[in-house]
Amino acid sequence: MACNKDHSNIQHIMCSLPFDQGGLGRHKCAACAYEKGYQDGFNHVETINLSQILNELDESQAQAQRHKSPHAAYAKGYLDGITDSY
Ligand SMILES: [Zn+2]
Repeated sequence: MACNKDHSNIQHIMCSLPFDQGGLGRHKCAACAYEKGYQDGFNHVETINLSQILNELDESQAQAQRHKSPHAAYAKGYLDGITDSY
């Protein structure tokens, strides 16, 4: 399924992420990965199955999140979420 969420509020973050042309990032929405990571970080989730999380993400061909690393996006979101929780 393709992601049709409005990710316009985090485009500046998507621009800072590395490209992942060959791996999972070619298909998965890095903006959704960021938002999932942010939630998990904010809630201090400590048991993380990243392959399952990434597999469940929607696909994306749009905006700055296109072809960005969902791994990096999740990690960045997790850190931002933790930081904002304090
Ligand atoms: Zn998305």
